[in-house]
Amino acid sequence: MDLIFVIILGGLWGSFANVCIYRLPKGKGVVSGRSFCPNCKKLITWKDNIPIISFLFLNGKCRNCKKKISPQYLLIELITIVCFLVIYYLFGITITTLLFLILGLSFIIIFFIDLKHYIIPNVLTFFLMIVGFIKSFDPNLNPIFPNYVNSLIGGIFGYLIIWSIIYFYKQIRKKEGMGLGDAKLLSAIGFWFGWISIPFVIFLSSVIALLSVIPSLLKKSKSMSSQIPFGPFIILGCILYIFFLEQYKNLLFG
Ligand SMILES: [Zn+2]
Repeated sequence: MDLIFVIILGGLWGSFANVCIYRLPKGKGVVSGRSFCPNCKKLITWKDNIPIISFLFLNGKCRNCKKKISPQYLLIELITIVCFLVIYYLFGITITTLLFLILGLSFIIIFFIDLKHYIIPNVLTFFLMIVGFIKSFDPNLNPIFPNYVNSLIGGIFGYLIIWSIIYFYKQIRKKEGMGLGDAKLLSAIGFWFGWISIPFVIFLSSVIALLSVIPSLLKKSKSMSSQIPFGPFIILGCILYIFFLEQYKNLLFG
């Protein structure tokens, strides 16, 4: 029974994520205004706006103009549901679950906005920094999370390390390799998981980024200097860090 509840919750927040991914890069608010078809501008009724079900029922097309709806909407709803289920499975009904739901949903939104638009909206990273810092004052917090001193150091460390990479890259190559959005995202991760997470997340995300560009380098469709959005790799690196936290601890401290 509670699994069905988690699935419904994931579907609803997944469709909220879709709204954010569509509207935030355009500087539009996410709470005001109803959803409409991006093609024919017709308002979407509530029964055509039910996560997953409406998409399948309408066969992935707008009811009014029959224009194909991007399968990205369905994909993001499904990812959100899976994300919610995994978090619920791991942590049950706890504050830790609530925190990870907030982080997971924010990660999904940032991932797809950066992938498409090469930007990470400040509203998302600032929100994560604030939640990440405030939660570290809770004395009964899951030991995955750091105390507030560690959290603050992590936030500053995360920002400065990417800032300095950008700075030195600019000196050498006379152009920007990464954006300050990446610095703010890593800072948010520092606030959430403490300073120790930063080198791991940088290492893991660089490895994933390198692995992912190898195929296109081999096909020569991209040169080494083509711009790639780095935010999605930071997020994947952070997820790997969270999942294998115990292994790193054993590796480092025996
Ligand atoms: Zn339409």
